[in-house]
Amino acid sequence: ALDQQKPPLTILLCSPRGFCAGVVRAIDAVEQALRIYGPPVYVRHEIVHNRFVVDGLKAKGAIFVEELSEIPDTRAPVIFSAHGVPKSVPADAESRNFLAIDATCPLVTKVHREAEIHFRRGREVVLIGHAGHPEVVGTMGQLPEGAVTLVETIAQARAFAPRDEKALAFVTQTTLSVDDTREIVEFLNQRFPAIVGPHKEDICYATTNRQEAVKRVAPMVEAMLVVGAPNSSNSQRLREVAEREGCRIAVLVQRAADIDWNQFGTITSLGITAGASAPEVLVEEIIEAFALRYDVSVETVSTADESVFFPLPRQLRPDAAA
Ligand code: SF4
Repeated sequence: ALDQQKPPLTILLCSPRGFCAGVVRAIDAVEQALRIYGPPVYVRHEIVHNRFVVDGLKAKGAIFVEELSEIPDTRAPVIFSAHGVPKSVPADAESRNFLAIDATCPLVTKVHREAEIHFRRGREVVLIGHAGHPEVVGTMGQLPEGAVTLVETIAQARAFAPRDEKALAFVTQTTLSVDDTREIVEFLNQRFPAIVGPHKEDICYATTNRQEAVKRVAPMVEAMLVVGAPNSSNSQRLREVAEREGCRIAVLVQRAADIDWNQFGTITSLGITAGASAPEVLVEEIIEAFALRYDVSVETVSTADESVFFPLPRQLRPDAAA
């Protein structure tokens, strides 16, 4: 009888959503290090941008710090987060004899290597990305100060004055808006015909696929809910994509408790997706919260299959640990 009083709500689940291969690997690295070495295990920066994940690992004995200087002299492992680190960080870790384990996503490391190759070939490097994001700090920190210029917008690409436009290259952050980045890359290609870079950009498969799924679902729903953290770049981009594709309501929430129910009110259709660092249990929690207020029916809309897998950092592979 109660159910009959609830308004109907069709939930379309975007697929792919949630954890990517780099996030699975980074979380596994911390868990595996805890198993092999026992607590504590130090982690520089949130291993992935999700409070629920971080709190879960804290409870198992991980200690999170922002900088290595916060860590006492220790034989415990020190893990670098999935976002990557400037070159100075492994160098510091070595000078302090830390057992460093690098959980940088291999797709971020690939960008680091591209930037280095450009630099060695005498090219000035433009990095398309968001100022202050740890991945951007890490990528800029692969090269000496001043070798990389950060460009966030078309306006900044227009204002950029290269030392020599015949010796120019670009790389990008992995978690950007596919559409915004295409515009900036096209602009750079037009302005600097000799610029070299990746075929399109360095946005990773997971970011691309999650944005594609949101694009498919957004025109079919009144509202889109993105499960993810405010400091998660790829989650923020998913919210923007939904908004641009016409969702009247497009919100980013970390947990069911964060939902502002007044915002949703009388909707009859809702899309749900999750950023690459958001665990599926939080999606389930949110569906359950909607089911308390609406008579929900859930369907999945799938735009891609993913089968990417990255092996653990070398020190943590079972054969190495045996
Ligand atoms: Fe790697 Fe992409 Fe996941 Fe970042 S979002 S950890 S680059 S797969």
